[in-house]
Amino acid sequence: MSTPSLLILPGDGIGPEVMAEVRKVIDWFGDKRGVAFDVSEDLVGGAAYDAHGVPLHDDTMARAQEIDAVLLGAVGGPKYDDLDFSVKPERGLLRLRKEMDLFANLRPAQCFDALADFSSLKKDIVAGLDIVIVRELTSGVYFGEPRGIINEGNERVGINTQRYTESEIDRIARAAFELARRRGNKVCSMEKANVMESGILWREVTQRVHDADYADVELSHMYADNGAMQLVRAPKQFDVILTDNLFGDILSDCAAMLTGSLGMLPSASLGAPMANGRPKALYEPVHGSAPDIAGQGKANPIACILSFAMALRYSFDMGEDASRVEQSVEKVLADGMRTGDLLGPEGGKSSSTTEMGDAIIAALDASL
Ligand code: NAD
Repeated sequence: MSTPSLLILPGDGIGPEVMAEVRKVIDWFGDKRGVAFDVSEDLVGGAAYDAHGVPLHDDTMARAQEIDAVLLGAVGGPKYDDLDFSVKPERGLLRLRKEMDLFANLRPAQCFDALADFSSLKKDIVAGLDIVIVRELTSGVYFGEPRGIINEGNERVGINTQRYTESEIDRIARAAFELARRRGNKVCSMEKANVMESGILWREVTQRVHDADYADVELSHMYADNGAMQLVRAPKQFDVILTDNLFGDILSDCAAMLTGSLGMLPSASLGAPMANGRPKALYEPVHGSAPDIAGQGKANPIACILSFAMALRYSFDMGEDASRVEQSVEKVLADGMRTGDLLGPEGGKSSSTTEMGDAIIAALDASL
């Protein structure tokens, strides 16, 4: 395969700070593992608005379509709050997701042992947790028509439409089964087939795709409300959870809290395969631009570094190296290093963004 290419979009607030630590990890792979990435960098969000008057320049969009993987920091901040909706920083990110047609959102919820006390759940329920939620990202009730607020008689009615085509369900189901094969080989699909026709179709198509092409993967179906309960009752029963846009929005936030801090959570959004076989892909931490701590060296870079690890695994088929990065993060945490967001109420010494990044590099060195 050709040299792996990466487009880095640090964005706003803590985005550039955490991305600087990812650059160290990327450089480490070039220096120590002989894996050179073809890296370019560009602007997104408020930073792009400041330079170009738009939150994503057309040239940047065009590059994102060509590149193997986009790695994004975060966008937004109070400076841009009063901008017109059409040029708000978040529109840059939405444009990337839409025009790259990134229909599969992968949100891992992994609980590092050293942080198990951090969860709102009991330690034995979350220690060793390792699940991924696959959320459909480009259809469903957030996009369905008709939508709006209309007048009916003497009151107003708010309308949104849950809508899924068979092909939309088919492609997200395949993404979940493919992912499961690389992990624990189990998919639990969640919908509300008991009360929603779209849920009935979702269940039927998922089962059909499974029976035709993925019979080796264990498939179960669960109503999404029960799924929410099971996620907090016994989350380790799951491997891959497949669900739609709306339920995925809620269930992935619920799963996020199982693991503690926002500063730890990576994500991937994947689309159809490109000519070189790699999927269109955008990797980003789940957190935002954290204006309250931006520029102070307090941001936790781990979510962004783990997002790069996801790129290694899902774009570049470098699963062992992805695990190497994850294990290095785990080691640093086990050694007791903490950025401020990882300190409990009892406090303790907090490390800076760069100290955390440097410690992860040292752990990577030790892994050789
Ligand atoms: P946020 O995620 O930026 O911050 C929420 C809280 O978590 C803050 O207290 C912040 O300090 C903390 N936090 C977040 N990431 C952290 C990290 N890596 N290390 C340590 N602490 C961290 O959410 P918000 O405050 O609701 O939004 C701030 C801005 O970010 C807004 O403009 C919002 O629109 C934008 N936003 C962008 C994205 C994105 O780029 N994908 C996502 C969410 C919010």
